Amino acid sequence: MINARNRQALLDWIAAGHFADMAWMTETVRLERRLHPGSMLDAVESVIVLGMPYQVSDGLPRSGSPAQGMIAAYAQGDDYHDVMKKKLRAFCRSLQSHADHGTPDQRIYVDTAPVLEHALAEAGGLGWLGKHSLSIDRQYGSWFMLGEVFTTAILPVDSPVSAHCGTCTACINQCPTAAIVAPMTVDARRCISWLTIEFKGFIPEDLRPLMGLHIYGCDDCQSCCPWNDHACIADRYFLETREENILPTLASLLCLDDTGFRQRFKKSPIKRTGREAFVRNVCIAAGNTHDNQLYAPLRLLLTDDSAIVRAHAAWALVRVANHGQQTELLACLQQALALEAQPQVRGELLSAYKYRSFS
Ligand code: SF4
Ligand code: SF4
Repeated sequence: MINARNRQALLDWIAAGHFADMAWMTETVRLERRLHPGSMLDAVESVIVLGMPYQVSDGLPRSGSPAQGMIAAYAQGDDYHDVMKKKLRAFCRSLQSHADHGTPDQRIYVDTAPVLEHALAEAGGLGWLGKHSLSIDRQYGSWFMLGEVFTTAILPVDSPVSAHCGTCTACINQCPTAAIVAPMTVDARRCISWLTIEFKGFIPEDLRPLMGLHIYGCDDCQSCCPWNDHACIADRYFLETREENILPTLASLLCLDDTGFRQRFKKSPIKRTGREAFVRNVCIAAGNTHDNQLYAPLRLLLTDDSAIVRAHAAWALVRVANHGQQTELLACLQQALALEAQPQVRGELLSAYKYRSFS
């Protein structure tokens, strides 16, 4: 089911270390399952790949508005894992009621198991693998999530879809961090989606300015894709955007404590990332705005319980402070340094101090 090209591409991607800290990608059993989906379920005969289109709000942060952050379109509404699993369960029930030869055994997966979903989508004719490594359909573009049903039912097989990227390289050129290192090869270590969602540590300093205003995921390689210019509007979206997640103001997000974060992102995929990593992302976006109005909330975060938050707040604070705040800024960095015991945060505070005292 997975063609030789996609199998080799996965092995090459792992060999090049593009999997970042996702060590589970290399575990033998999981790798075997990705390469040979038949091993996911005893007597599996067919895999049904389904696409669920999601709503995409237009627009970039507006000048003149309070500083705003950007959340990837698929994450602006309810958690797609929950929404899609519910739909797939209903789909499975209807499949079982139509089965001619006994009840098929089936399992559903939505981004939570070792499934090479884009390769399966390509094999099943749902979409070709674009150079940004996501699936593209001629009609719907790439704004859809994938889910799979593995079943013991014997079903007719669809033909694979052919690729239609041609000579276009828009996504490669547009990627802010140069994460698409070759067609269909994304280095997760540089990808803003991975950095803001999966990665929980200190974000490498050289990547922070390149992350712009992205606070959860990144749509840049999809927004510029010509196949999305004229993508069909779906009859119905199961993932509708929540108004408050379209360009949220950074100042309000910097002030979220644990309880506030859980309430603000209830039933949202963002909740899975946790407050610490999310506020870290917001600090980076805040620093990239150079907006002095974010000075006060960032200053408060210098004493946050989380070392990750304190470190990224220091990085951002020196970028939003104005010249009139220089003396106060250096004093508060010195004060933070005197109280700080965590070695990496101390390093960040020293680097922030140097950045500002020599600028
Ligand atoms: S999601 Fe963003 S950072 Fe990742 S490959 Fe696409 S454009 Fe680059
Ligand atoms: S932007 Fe161009 S190269 Fe990239 S996925 Fe779309 S069509 Fe393919």
